[in-house]
Amino acid sequence: MQRKTWKGWRSALAQTVGLVLVFTPVAALAVAGGPIPQGAAGQSPMARLIKAVNPKANLPAPMVSKIVWNGLDIDGDGAGDFVNPTGQAPRLHDAFGYGEFGASRDGGSRHHEGVDYRAEADQAVAAPISGFVTKIGYAYGGDTSLKFVEITNPAIGYVARAFYVDPGVAVGQAVRLGETIGTVASLQSHYPGITDHVHLEVMKSGEHLNAETLIVARTIKVKATSANG
Ligand SMILES: [Zn+2]
Repeated sequence: MQRKTWKGWRSALAQTVGLVLVFTPVAALAVAGGPIPQGAAGQSPMARLIKAVNPKANLPAPMVSKIVWNGLDIDGDGAGDFVNPTGQAPRLHDAFGYGEFGASRDGGSRHHEGVDYRAEADQAVAAPISGFVTKIGYAYGGDTSLKFVEITNPAIGYVARAFYVDPGVAVGQAVRLGETIGTVASLQSHYPGITDHVHLEVMKSGEHLNAETLIVARTIKVKATSANG
């Protein structure tokens, strides 16, 4: 009994010494306002302490916010029917105006009939709806460099046009929702300084709809699995 107790004490003492030794640099950093060790962001002080003593301890990963884009379910089959073509948020204001639906264009003589989704030149463009490629056209007369891809879905009665896309599909081809239909064309030669984007127009019965009402941003919490979350 006596020996066991001593062993227990010795073990506890060793752990405390280890804890102090390991924890000190972390504490010193915190006091000095130094960089927080990677992966420590979002963890409670207790979680950081446990990690400092035993770096291999399995702690629940810290949660971070992430935006996902949910397409409306038009046909009621339980799955969304629209996809954000670039996965990025709509363009806000730059020297060329606002990127949202209905924004003024040409001094108010016309309105923006689509939504501009931010993009990086050459990134993949996802099919905003399922359907058939019904047209590949030019965004501007006399300029063959900027094209659009039109997809028609007879089942739900929607037509979508994704502008400033170098097409990777052909007229008549069937495309699935979210499938790559091409890559983003840079707009810099046409509009120097503009935020590169895909201009998305969605039509039903010949009427233009606001894609932002069909593709809705939702913030979810996900486990932080990497440095950039
Ligand atoms: Zn636009």
